[in-house]
Amino acid sequence: MKMTFEDLSNELKSKNIRLSHQRLKVLEYLVNNRCHPTVDQIYTDLHKEIPTLSKTTVYNTLNTLINADLVKLITIDENETRYDIDTSIHGHFKCESCGSIYDFDINIDSLESKDLDFFKINNKNIYFNGICPKCIKQGNNMAN
Ligand SMILES: [Zn+2]
Ligand SMILES: [Zn+2]
Repeated sequence: MKMTFEDLSNELKSKNIRLSHQRLKVLEYLVNNRCHPTVDQIYTDLHKEIPTLSKTTVYNTLNTLINADLVKLITIDENETRYDIDTSIHGHFKCESCGSIYDFDINIDSLESKDLDFFKINNKNIYFNGICPKCIKQGNNMAN
């Protein structure tokens, strides 16, 4: 399910969340760049367009969107937090060669383990890594 900027703005309105012009730009960036960007990526790209934007604003906006369930935080590499505008359950594939992160559809609910019968699960993450088709084509089969 891909939410458009319009969908997301309406969702915010229905939750009584008002975003300033700068904050809407952050949301728009996430909608247009479905590459699971990091805060630095968002800030660096948007700062060119909005010189008055601060990193704090980017952080605060992301937190607002996470609290409103419009953005999901994903940690694929331990030292790297990324943001995902697609909050539906899906898997992530990280290419070891180019570093791109791909979404893939997977029925996570069908994955069960008797070992977890008495556990309360808050979060299910599926993460694969390897080499993406683009890199295989280019012959970059080796991880950097
Ligand atoms: Zn790749
Ligand atoms: Zn994703």
